[in-house]
This record gives sequence, structure tokens and C-alpha cells, in this order.
Amino acid sequence: MIISIASGKGGTGKTLVSTNLAQTIGYQAQILDCDVEEPNSHLFLKPEIFETREVIAPVPEIDTEKCTHCKKCMDICRFGAIAVVAKSVVTFPELCHSCGGCTAVCPENAVKEKKRSLGVIQEGWIKTSRVNGTADPGKEKRIKFVHGLMDIGQVMAPPIIRQVRTYTDPEKINIIDAPPGTSCPVITSMKGADLVVLVTEPTPFGLHDLTLAVEAVKLLGIPHGIIINRAGMGNDDVKAYAQREDIPILMEIPFDRRIAEAYSRGELIVSALPEYREKFSGLLERIKEIAEKRNSVQ
Ligand code: SF4
Ligand code: SF4
Repeated sequence: MIISIASGKGGTGKTLVSTNLAQTIGYQAQILDCDVEEPNSHLFLKPEIFETREVIAPVPEIDTEKCTHCKKCMDICRFGAIAVVAKSVVTFPELCHSCGGCTAVCPENAVKEKKRSLGVIQEGWIKTSRVNGTADPGKEKRIKFVHGLMDIGQVMAPPIIRQVRTYTDPEKINIIDAPPGTSCPVITSMKGADLVVLVTEPTPFGLHDLTLAVEAVKLLGIPHGIIINRAGMGNDDVKAYAQREDIPILMEIPFDRRIAEAYSRGELIVSALPEYREKFSGLLERIKEIAEKRNSVQ
């Protein structure tokens, strides 16, 4: 099962939901942090990283001896990553999507490919005893952790997100912490999910960005539900919207100073406030119900 935790804007509590849900599920879960510009689930789950792998992508390099300035490479590039100006060819690696089109069309075989680093993928383990305080002396049951870290100055998040998603384990409950917003990186993080959980807050900004996120999820045809974080601090417009659109509200997390304090200390709320373990168990059950219902009609 793949559960993508997303939100129309940052700071709504997406990571809070992802990390606490993973902790509640335990070793049957694995967490894939796809918020590669600013991953922070590791701050709460504190994994022991055992592998770091570079993510590289091919970008064009022009052999000026062979180039005849025919402009075919520029014409095929949809991303403006290559330009022929007078008698020179200029490449913009940060715009390149590594599609290989320019190499394929060059009649002079003047486009070579060189490797460019985009960031890294890190894999780690979270001991369940460390996470939920219940030691399991007989067996070492651990939660798999994977996150992507984009290099500073890079703008191409989707290739790193796709790499993180290759770690999806069909035997596990895969929790994807998606980037905020509704752009390409978010779509890459939601595609193929069994359910998208949209975390929002009950404010006009929260509602505005939620409606954009809902439109994106609907286009992808993925079942979805809403979590209202900091419930009680704003108004009821999100609830009214959910009712109108027939979107289930999966959970409400109250506006509670104790949660903010635990979060600011880098603690999981299901550890700091054990009564939340039951709430997150209930969330998982609701997610399973919706996903099973969808599978039964397909
Ligand atoms: S397609 Fe090849 S020959 Fe033509 S401008 Fe590009 S690099 Fe030069
Ligand atoms: S590889 Fe594709 S995206 Fe990159 S410069 Fe060539 S045509 Fe453009």
C-alpha cells in the first residue's frame, strides 16, 4: 500500500502526520521522504543512515569541433536548456530534463553526455524500540527510512523523487512525505498512491491551497481524504468544503500547545502524548477502508 501525505502549502503538519503514522504502524511501515528540497522527517524519526548514494543525470556537452550550428538540438529542446547563438552553442544544465533529445537529433554526433550531480539518496533504519519505546528483544524489527536531498542550487526535484520512490516495497505500508504545493514534484510524489492524505489547517489560506491540491488529486484519479491540523483555531470553512465536495475528513488534530511543544523538541506526538497513538491507529483503519473500497470497485 502507498499512502501519500501532501498539502497545498507548507507548514500545515504534513511531516507531523507522516512520521507519527509511520511510528504508529511500526516495522510494517516504511517512510519515503520525497520533500527533497527540505526533508525533515529524519529530525523526528532519527534514523541510523547506512547508505548514501549520489543521484546523477546526464546533460549535454557540445563538441565544438564537430558542431555546424544547425540548431536542431535547440529546436527539439522543450525546456530551453540549449541555445545556438551565432557560432556558439550554450547549454543550461539546470534546465535540462535529461531526455536525450538533443543527442538523438544531432546530425554531426556533436552532443555528448556528461554526468551532473542532482543530490543524494540516504537509506536508514529506525529501530522500533527507539521510535515507540517498546523494545522487541527477540527480533530486530525496524522501520525502513529513505529520503532524498537535493543539492543546493538545483531545481530539478522530480528525478530525485523518482529515485526515492524506487524503494517502494509492495509488502509494506509505504508512507510518502510529499513536498508542499501542487507543482511537478508533488505530482511525482502522489502518482500511483492508493490514497492521498491532504493535510490542511482551518484558515482561509489553508482552504485556498487545499482546493488547489484537491483539483490536482482529482486529475490523477486517486482517492483522497483530509486531515485538519490545528483544528479549533480558525473557522469551519474547510469542513463545509469537504462536505460539499464529499471528501472524508480522516482526522482532526486539535490546536494544542502540548503538540507544538513536542514538535519543537523534535519529538513524535505519539511518544510525548500517548493518547494520540489510538488516534493514528484509527487514521490507518480509515485509510485502509477507503483503499479497499476503491480496490473492490476496480
Ligand atoms: S544539433 Fe549538433 S550540430 Fe546542430 S547545433 Fe546542435 S550540436 Fe551543433
Ligand atoms: S537532454 Fe533534453 S532537456 Fe536536456 S538539453 Fe537535451 S533536449 Fe533539452
